[in-house]
Amino acid sequence: MRIRTKIVLTILGITLVPWVLGGGAAFLIAHERAGGGLDWLLAAAGLLAAALISVVGAAMARSITEPILNLTELAKGISKGGMRQSVIVTSKDEVGQLAEAFNTMVFDLWEANDTLEKKVRARTRELAEKSKEAKDSEDAALNIAEDLKEEEERLAAEKANAESLANDLMKFKLALDNVSDQIIITDQEGTVMYVNPVVERATGYAPDEVVGKKSGALWKSPMPAEFYRDLWRIVKEEKRPFTGEMQNRRKNGEVYTAMTTISPVVDRSGKVLFFITVERDITREKEIDVAKDEFISLASHQMRTPITVINWYSEMLREGDAGALTEKQKSYFDEIYAAARKMNDTIKSFIHILRLETGSVAANPVPLDLAAAAKAVIQDTRLAIEKKKLRVVETYEQQLPELSVDEDLFRIILQNLVSNAVKYSPEGGELLVGIATARKGSVVAGKVSTEDSVLISVRDAGIGIAEGDKDRIFAKFFRAENAKLLDPNGNGLGLYMTRFMVDLVNGSVWFDSALGKGTTFYLLLPLAGKRA
Ligand code: ADP
Repeated sequence: MRIRTKIVLTILGITLVPWVLGGGAAFLIAHERAGGGLDWLLAAAGLLAAALISVVGAAMARSITEPILNLTELAKGISKGGMRQSVIVTSKDEVGQLAEAFNTMVFDLWEANDTLEKKVRARTRELAEKSKEAKDSEDAALNIAEDLKEEEERLAAEKANAESLANDLMKFKLALDNVSDQIIITDQEGTVMYVNPVVERATGYAPDEVVGKKSGALWKSPMPAEFYRDLWRIVKEEKRPFTGEMQNRRKNGEVYTAMTTISPVVDRSGKVLFFITVERDITREKEIDVAKDEFISLASHQMRTPITVINWYSEMLREGDAGALTEKQKSYFDEIYAAARKMNDTIKSFIHILRLETGSVAANPVPLDLAAAAKAVIQDTRLAIEKKKLRVVETYEQQLPELSVDEDLFRIILQNLVSNAVKYSPEGGELLVGIATARKGSVVAGKVSTEDSVLISVRDAGIGIAEGDKDRIFAKFFRAENAKLLDPNGNGLGLYMTRFMVDLVNGSVWFDSALGKGTTFYLLLPLAGKRA
């Protein structure tokens, strides 16, 4: 039950009870006195007294309850936030003291609230500043984090780069350590910075005996001073690589020949940083070359001369210059003559090959009338052609360009192709020799001509080349079984030489063939090219 209801009930109690009791008592007394009747005066006096008590009681009750109600209202107001309120103190009794205490409490509360509010405001300001500072710090931290991330990424990229460089260097060093040539790296003054393990094997000098020393003083090369003057001019002043043969001395004093390439390594400004020397010990090759040269001279003079003599005399005897011969004697001389010719041809081929392999073919390119040269080759083979009763068809393009080529090389090449076509043709066959220009980019016999050239073709309708033999046709000493059967006198050197020579003049040679149907050899020679 609410307090207000209780107060109302109390007031009602205070005002009604005197009425009921006072009025009731007065009525009874008045009733008694009147001996069963009613003493009106007394009843009226009783009622008046009851009324007075009620009024006084109600006033008393009100004076107590009103301040309490006021206090209740005030407390409600304060609880809803109305701090600046107070109770009017009307009495000095306990309720008045309660109101005063209440007022003091409200004042203290108000003051405390005010102070708190101020503190809260100050703190809020402080917090806002701190929060701003924190935000600034957070932004700064974020920036730093971003910078750090970028730095981290940059470092990671640099690390990866450095690792890949180190890897490359490692591979490079491994490669240098394992090549079969000597590698020597020197600074621009010729002081050795690096040597690979081959240097020790070739010269006898261990790496720690040479690194940091001047290369010239170490190797004590017997080469003349002018050679070094030229070499340094090329690599130091002209900053070009030098390649040439030179002689050096091993630690034990032995002289060796080396094919040497010295390359300057220059920076962007053109300054020489260091030199890389690659040296191959060619002493052994040189010795073999000397032996080959000696053999060439032996073969060309000491062996060919007696064979030529055998040739002449057997031919003279066969022709009956020393008296008439029987058919049997004639056929024996034929055999001697053929064998001597074959030996002569083989020796000639050997000499050619040795000259080619030792690089001692002195090529002399001159503008050549190709059609005339081809006719001369066919003329030289005339006897064999006639013997086989071959029909020769020559197709030379009108106004062929002149080809600058060594005449001897060209004739030997064409001679090989034509004589093979004759050798490997059956009697009565047909032989075609053609020469035409092949412009750059045109397709000739399945091949693209990469520059302006002439195409020479030699076609026969002979035995052809079996599929399984095609890969080996240009190999030294190779002869196919069908060729051996038809002509046992070959040596398998002609095409090997042909390809060697064609390479020398920068050309190419290939063929088309079907077993039993014939073969066409093609020769493509560039108009501009000669390399020998
Ligand atoms: P050789 O003719 O002395 O045997 P080559 O080097 O000139 O030597 O030829 C090698 C081989 O190529 C021949 O033995 C032969 O098997 C084959 N050959 C070359 N030309 C022809 C050709 N025109 N027809 C068929 N086979 C050929």
